[in-house]
Amino acid sequence: MTHIELKNITKGFDSNKPVIENLNLTVNDGEFLVLVGPSGCGKSTTLRLIAGLETAGSGDISIAGKLVNNIPPKDRDISMVFQNYALYPHMSVYDNMAFGLKLRKYSKDKIRERVNEAANILEITDLLDRKPKQLSGGQRQRVALGRAIVRKPQVFLFDEPLSNLDAKLRVQMRAEIKKLHKQLKTTMVYVTHDQVEAMTMGSRIAVMKDGVIHQLDTPLNIFNEPADLFVAGFIGSPAMNFIATKVSNDNMLYSEDTKITLPIPQKYQSQLNNQIDKEIVVGIRPDGLAIHSESQKDYKFEANLELVEPLGNETILYLSKGPQSLTCISKQYDPQSYNENSIELFVNPAMIHLFDSSSTKRIKPLISPNGQK
Ligand code: ADP
Ligand code: MG
Repeated sequence: MTHIELKNITKGFDSNKPVIENLNLTVNDGEFLVLVGPSGCGKSTTLRLIAGLETAGSGDISIAGKLVNNIPPKDRDISMVFQNYALYPHMSVYDNMAFGLKLRKYSKDKIRERVNEAANILEITDLLDRKPKQLSGGQRQRVALGRAIVRKPQVFLFDEPLSNLDAKLRVQMRAEIKKLHKQLKTTMVYVTHDQVEAMTMGSRIAVMKDGVIHQLDTPLNIFNEPADLFVAGFIGSPAMNFIATKVSNDNMLYSEDTKITLPIPQKYQSQLNNQIDKEIVVGIRPDGLAIHSESQKDYKFEANLELVEPLGNETILYLSKGPQSLTCISKQYDPQSYNENSIELFVNPAMIHLFDSSSTKRIKPLISPNGQK
C-alpha cells in the first residue's frame, strides 16, 4: 500500500512567511493525484518535500506507512521527472535509461531486461541506439519517462514534465502518461500550473494557492462544485463569470454596478432567506449564458457585444455590461445576432453558482428529496 501522507507540513525558506503552512494531504495507493495552482504557489516545494530534496520545518511525511522525515532521497524509492529532463548527450538512449540502474549495481542482464521492458511500454525500442540529439522533443520526453520507470519505484513524482513541449505534443504525452499509469498502477503525484492538464489527467486534483490546498476532489466535482471563488475562477476555460451582487428584499440578487437583477434560484432560497443586503458573488460559467432562450424569461439582461470568436464547433462571445466583462460560449454561430451592439443574454438558473463575498466560500444549494439540485 503505497499511500503518501503529509501531516501539518510547514516549510519556509528564510525568515519570511512560510511558503507552505500546515499542509495536510493524503495521496491514495495507486492514485494519480494532480497538484495544480498558479506559479509560485508551492507545488514544486511540496513535491520536493515528498522526494526528500527539501526538509520540512515541521510536520511528518510518510510513504507506505513509514515515516520518511529523516530518510535521504535515494532511499525513498521514488522517481522524479522534471520539466528539464536533461539526458546525457553523449550516451545512447539505452545507456541513458540504464544509468540509474548501473549506479545501483544491478546486473547486466537485469538492466537489459528492465530497459527493454520500459522501451516496450513507451514504444521506443527502435530508438535505443540513438543519441538524444537524434530524437524529437516528444521522443526525448519518453526517454526521460523511461529512465524513471526502469527503477520500478513505489512512487512517481512529475514536476511540470510537459511544459517544454509544443501544444500538440503536450496533448499526446498527456495521454501517454495516463496510459502509463493505467499500466503500472503506481502511485503518482503530478504537478502542473495548467488546469486543462489537471482536469484531463488527475484521478483527483488538489487545487493550491499560496501554499494552501483550497480543494481536493475529482476533476468533475471540482468543476461542478468549486469550494470557493479561487477554485471557481482557476478551473475551467474560459473562466467563470463573476458578478458582485446583494440580496434584495424581493428575493432577487441585485448588482449595483451593472444593474443586473436575477431571481435567487429556488435551490438557494432557503439559505438566503432574510439575508437582505448580504453580499453574494454570482458565478456563471460561459456556457451558462445564451443568446437564445424561450424558457428563462426572468433570468436575462441586456449586454454589449464587444467581440465574436467563431471556433467552428462553438462561438465565444465577449460582452460587457457597465464595468463588467462577460464571456459566453454559444454552440451556435448566429451572425445575424452579432450585427447588433446590444444583445439579450439569458442565464440558465441551473448553472448559477453562489459564493459568500466575505468568506469567498461556495454557498451549497439545497438538494431536494428527489436528488435534484
Ligand atoms: P511552484 O512550483 O508552485 O511554482 P515553488 O514551490 O517553486 O512554486 O515556490 C514557492 C515559493 O517558494 C516561491 O515564492 C519561491 O520563490 C519560493 N522558493 C522556492 N524555492 C526556494 C528556495 N530554494 N529558496 C528561497 N525561496 C524559494
Ligand atoms: Mg514549480
